[in-house]
Amino acid sequence: RVRVRFAPSPTGPLHIGGVRTALFNYLFAKKHGGDFILRIEDTDQNRYVEGAEQYIIDALNWCGLTFDEGPGLKGDFGPYKQSERKHLYKQYAEELIAKGKAYYAFDTSEKLDSHRKEHEANGKTFIYNWHNRLKLDNSLSMMPEDVQKRLDSGEDYVVRFLTPPDEKLHLKDIVRGSMEIDTNVLDDKVLFKGDGMPTYHLANIVDDHLMEITHVIRGEEWLPSLALHQQLYDAFGWTAPEFAHLPLIMKPVGKGKLSKRDGEKMGFPVFPLTWNESEGYKEAGYFSEAVVNFLALLGWNPGTEQEIFSLEELVETFSLERVNKSGARFDPDKTKWYNQQYLQSKDNKELAGLYAEILKSKSVLVDDKPSDYLEKVVELIKERAVFVSDFWELSDYFFEAPTSYNEKAAKKQWKEDTPDILNRLVSKIKEMTDFSSENVETTVKSWIGEQELSFGKVMPPLRLVIVGDMKGPHLFDIMAMIGNENSIARIQKAIS
Ligand code: GLU
Repeated sequence: RVRVRFAPSPTGPLHIGGVRTALFNYLFAKKHGGDFILRIEDTDQNRYVEGAEQYIIDALNWCGLTFDEGPGLKGDFGPYKQSERKHLYKQYAEELIAKGKAYYAFDTSEKLDSHRKEHEANGKTFIYNWHNRLKLDNSLSMMPEDVQKRLDSGEDYVVRFLTPPDEKLHLKDIVRGSMEIDTNVLDDKVLFKGDGMPTYHLANIVDDHLMEITHVIRGEEWLPSLALHQQLYDAFGWTAPEFAHLPLIMKPVGKGKLSKRDGEKMGFPVFPLTWNESEGYKEAGYFSEAVVNFLALLGWNPGTEQEIFSLEELVETFSLERVNKSGARFDPDKTKWYNQQYLQSKDNKELAGLYAEILKSKSVLVDDKPSDYLEKVVELIKERAVFVSDFWELSDYFFEAPTSYNEKAAKKQWKEDTPDILNRLVSKIKEMTDFSSENVETTVKSWIGEQELSFGKVMPPLRLVIVGDMKGPHLFDIMAMIGNENSIARIQKAIS
């Protein structure tokens, strides 16, 4: 059975790159009828940020990426928070030491710093590895009883992985293919600390093993850890899961990884939900389906021209084989395009419901309007909208008479005889009993003919007095919507 996990560290808000990782895990799990697990990797107490864990859960829920196992859910492999699994890891560190695959190191951070400085002064970088390790303060060159004495005395220590020298590691990644790594370039990573806490590497491997994870799907920034992780599986004698490292999400312009600063500079969200001052996609008015859709195509391609996918369609189409190797450039305009597409395809009733909330917050009353009024407004204006929050700007004149007129347009369209023409039009409108769009249109048009006027003399100023601007859908649709009385009142107000 396929089992995958999303394993964020609660060190801050989830970035959209993190959501993309979660999404790909979710898609892969669902595609194969497997389990999607949320595991909170909170072993680094110094970097723990209050509220981040709940944020992660809220963000996944908003995107519709339901997890099958995780904090707060039942599951056979819990707890799903590493801080609650603290007691588990020490025995594994000790197992590696007993097997000669790891060792105790007592170097103080001051000592390590001075080694670093010394190397730097000689133009070298200090690496805790085969080359240096015997000159350092660790159990490799000590008698076992001395090691025990130092441990017993409560001296601070770490457990490091003993990287074997001169070995070629063969690593496999579903996205990248095969890689060969020379162990001589690796350092002896810390696995466990004297405070009783494992580091990311040990906890991650132990948990993936205990939780029976079959595929590790994560960001490319973890690719450099693959060599150590593979060695850890081998050292324990465990079968490693398969790995897939997802390409980085790149800045919209220039080089490098997409960062919070890019969003701030260019004015687009980089978080799914608002975090402190930074507005998220949800609050910026994006539909979660649009966000999920554009994230899916950041680093994956369906092999066809299709761009619009529901979550179900993504599950059906997704495969790790179609994940791209190269970085995926983030395009904020494309995210808007997606939202626009989803907005167009939404039911008018649903959009009207969302619009009603905005109108309520603006204290715009709609109680006196027919019950389908909002739906009709939405139908007329939605093709010009990217967000529901654009609706008001596009349709205020359906609710309120204009309080001012676009000056430039007025200058151009308002002629000396305009008031007289509109005044005569009012008399015509007053005679009309059927105020449907079609009837208003035929009546006004034939009246223009009878009066030997031109369209240009009547229609633009009429739009200006009804709408306040030259914008908006078909004018007769607007007049039919606001009705006979309002149309007359708006014309009269303008010419009085
Ligand atoms: N805790 C790591 C992170 O924050 C997990 C990396 C992995 O998936 O192995 O991304």
